[in-house]
Amino acid sequence: MAAATRRYRVGLVLYLVNLAAACALAAPMAVLIDDAFGRSLSGLDLASSFRFEAIVDFLRSRHDALANHFQVLGFGVLFYAVVSAVLTGGVIDSLKSPPRSPFLPRFMGGCGRYALRYLRLIVYLGIALVGLYWLNRGLDRLIVLAFDQTDHEVAAFWIMRGKQGLALTVLLVLAAVFDLARVLTAFEDRTHMIGALMTSLGFVGRHLGSILGLYTVLLTFTLTLFVTYLLVAHALLPPSSVVLLLAAQQIVMFMRHGVRVVGLASLMAHYRAATGAPPESGDLPMGGGAPGAATLTVVTLVVVAAGAARAAQPAARPVAPPAIARQPESVARTPLSPRVVSYQIEASLDPAGGSVTGRETIVYRNATRVAMKDLAFHLYPNAFSNTHSTFMRGIPWTDEQTLQRLERMARERSWGLMKVVSVRLADGADLTARATIDDTVMTVPLPRPVPPGDSARIEVAWETLLPRTFDRMGRWGDHFDVMQWFPKPAVFTDAGWKIYPFYRTSEFFADFGTFEVTLKAPREYVVEATGVPGERHEGPDGTLSVTYRAEDVHDFAWIADRNAQVARTIFSEGPYASSPVEILYVHQPYRRRMAPRIIAAVEEGLRFYGARVMPYPYPRLVIDDLPMGLGGGMEYPMLFTTSMAWFLPQFYTAPQEVTLHEFGHQYWYGIVATNEFEEPWLDEGIDSYVTRRVMETIDPPRPGRTADGLHLYVGARLLAEGLEAPLGRFTLDLDQILGIRETPFRPIEGGLLGYPVSPFWLDLPGVGDGPFLSSKDGYAKVARDNPITTPAWGFRPGSYTGIVYDKTDVALETIGRLIGKETLDQALREYVRRFRFAHPGSDDFFAVLVETAGRARPGLDLRPFIQPLFYGTGRLDFAVASLKSREAKAPRGLVPPSRAGLEPLDRRGETPLDGSSKQYESEVIVARPGEIVLPVEILVKFEDGAEVRESWDGRDTWKRFTYEREARAASAEIDPGGIYAMDLDRTNNSLTLDRNQRAIAPLVLHWLFLVQNELHLASSLL
Ligand SMILES: [Zn+2]
Repeated sequence: MAAATRRYRVGLVLYLVNLAAACALAAPMAVLIDDAFGRSLSGLDLASSFRFEAIVDFLRSRHDALANHFQVLGFGVLFYAVVSAVLTGGVIDSLKSPPRSPFLPRFMGGCGRYALRYLRLIVYLGIALVGLYWLNRGLDRLIVLAFDQTDHEVAAFWIMRGKQGLALTVLLVLAAVFDLARVLTAFEDRTHMIGALMTSLGFVGRHLGSILGLYTVLLTFTLTLFVTYLLVAHALLPPSSVVLLLAAQQIVMFMRHGVRVVGLASLMAHYRAATGAPPESGDLPMGGGAPGAATLTVVTLVVVAAGAARAAQPAARPVAPPAIARQPESVARTPLSPRVVSYQIEASLDPAGGSVTGRETIVYRNATRVAMKDLAFHLYPNAFSNTHSTFMRGIPWTDEQTLQRLERMARERSWGLMKVVSVRLADGADLTARATIDDTVMTVPLPRPVPPGDSARIEVAWETLLPRTFDRMGRWGDHFDVMQWFPKPAVFTDAGWKIYPFYRTSEFFADFGTFEVTLKAPREYVVEATGVPGERHEGPDGTLSVTYRAEDVHDFAWIADRNAQVARTIFSEGPYASSPVEILYVHQPYRRRMAPRIIAAVEEGLRFYGARVMPYPYPRLVIDDLPMGLGGGMEYPMLFTTSMAWFLPQFYTAPQEVTLHEFGHQYWYGIVATNEFEEPWLDEGIDSYVTRRVMETIDPPRPGRTADGLHLYVGARLLAEGLEAPLGRFTLDLDQILGIRETPFRPIEGGLLGYPVSPFWLDLPGVGDGPFLSSKDGYAKVARDNPITTPAWGFRPGSYTGIVYDKTDVALETIGRLIGKETLDQALREYVRRFRFAHPGSDDFFAVLVETAGRARPGLDLRPFIQPLFYGTGRLDFAVASLKSREAKAPRGLVPPSRAGLEPLDRRGETPLDGSSKQYESEVIVARPGEIVLPVEILVKFEDGAEVRESWDGRDTWKRFTYEREARAASAEIDPGGIYAMDLDRTNNSLTLDRNQRAIAPLVLHWLFLVQNELHLASSLL
């Protein structure tokens, strides 16, 4: 009993030290939170519901202050690790001393006695952790060697998990060895720490089973504590109860420290029992603690596991019925497009050599008013031919992971290349010697210019060497993605050829036409392609040739895979497509379970676009799912790629999002063939906006309860980014050491087990508020770097995605809120109607937008909005800078009389304004911290329920409004309708007269709890 009291006291001391340190370290964040939310309406909202936008705005708008804070926190954590090493001396000394000896003196004495020795141990622990990091790296290399170019993705996945299990085990053993080394030092008064470590290592080695068991139980118990806490916080705590939340969190923290003390006591007892080290106390070897914890843990685990097993049961979803492979017949349709070019291609794949040999006859019609003196071709595969291609030079220097992949291509010489063998005119003139090649561009002067209306007929023979799959095209084992693979004419205009080298981010611009492509591959390969398959010929050498025909497309891609399976369905619903659409999902066998989800997403896209934009005009659509998560999504006419893990749960919506995004490209650049080199936003940006709209029809955005939302957000961030302690130029990162985030073949940022995790792509029963915030977050990071309408080569390194995809999405969302979503949909429909199968530019898009908006809302001119949002780099930010209210008083002083000759009125005391009822003066100052000038509304609410709306042209940097009323102004809000989705910080858009501390208290408590846990981790690893 006495021993139990002692353990309780030790735990209490550790807990209090942790709490004090955490309070000090968390205080700056509490100040920041109060500053942002203490008087804002979004802070008040936090009391009942959680909006990701408030958190995103807070993190982005106070980015610098937060970065400093995290740095301080990082050093604080490090310092705490040192302090707690010293404290461990007190812990061990008190635990081993007789129960009746005075507690505090003994504790303090223990701290001092072993301090220097325990501090030396920290250095050795650091070295051991670095060793673990390198062990991880070495094992990663071995896994890469074993699985490179194979299709054993499932096996690779489990081996990676095994490796991580091993790393975790090693970490537990390290924790035990260092704990025991401290115990030994105290028991035997060791002075040589390496000696103590060696003895400890030997002991742990001899008793590995029981010690590892003990530490596993401790870890499991800690994890169970968290599960219980989360369940309690979700299910039982009233959302606004600050006290209960604080109590629950502090109970968890106190128990964590209790677990730590029990762990050390158990280890000591174990060591005594095994070595007969004399107990100083009459204490019995370790009693109830650990076994008690073990029982509790096992019970909880069983309960949790049973729940998890139920949750993991895939809902019995019928797999798409294996539709009879009905060949949609290729009818000679009336042309949809101008058909400037026609291709006849014969190509054959040599899997062993990783190459494609081809021969093409191209008829290119001069549809301009000027003579065509030469021909210009894209030779895309040359992008992958060396380290200095335009494509490779476009990798930002900060993108280390991609640079490593390039390094690897260089090491193993797995380059791609396009070798042009011959170029000749159909009349026999050989132009091979005249053709010049620069990077990915080939120019061929013609012997005679082709006048307007006439055509050039040219024959090209070539060989394409497929690189190791890099982003989109190439080979991986028996899987071949043959994309951007044939010499392809650029676009001829009145101003000459529009041709550009293949950029890292932008690649598409071509003329519509017809393709007749005969593809030859070994018979055992599954081959799928753009177009509709027709004649088949079996070759004598075990090959199969299939001829594909495609009309009114401007590109042709194909895939060949020896192991793939095909899930197939026919979509023939209502008016959403111009004819039944055959959908084929070509996937690795182990990804079968993703088929219903991917196909359902495509069908959702067909419906959305069919109803609002234009029915899908082609009879077929192929989805190519690359193995090993390679390549990601990439779009080609009637064929696109995706790449996702096979096990992702339904509530993780990224697979649907990627599928819908690539499907959207069938329209944006596929049908409306914009120039992706010059105006990438017209395809990627508009696609991002519409994709999100489709996603929101599937999973409508729902803000959740505060606790749910915060746990989800923090949990997902922790899973994705891990626990990091930034220390200046160096970052301490536990999951780097454990290798939790690693994946052998697909380097990703922010992921778990090698697959991306984002709080924005989770759609859970309680909350799903993310897709728009995903864009807003991406845009806020780079808001000022570039205008949306920047050409592909003009982006600041690392800003492309944030501007082209995210900023466009948020800008279009702003326009949608301004003119109404339905009106924006009408504009998109009209834009497609006018420019389908043509090459429109930004001006065309905006002309349709301005016209449609003007028709829907007479008097509304969108042009002043379009200029700053799409062509500018200014920030959009409105704020309520100040809100004050005070009682109105009659004037004091000498009041001049109303007539000459009279004495002034001398009023000395404060009196109410008119005596009958109290009057208040209120002052609201609004401001425009951003550079963008646009008109905006202001809503002022008074305490008697009255409301006043004001308009402000936003031209000055601030404006003052004053009121004299019988009630005080309770709140002021700028842009109350939330029209300006681009507003970078909505937390400063409102002020309340009173502070809402209760509303923001849970936020502060969650932060404190996080810091407490981080400190605890730094002190004991458990
Ligand atoms: Zn895209």
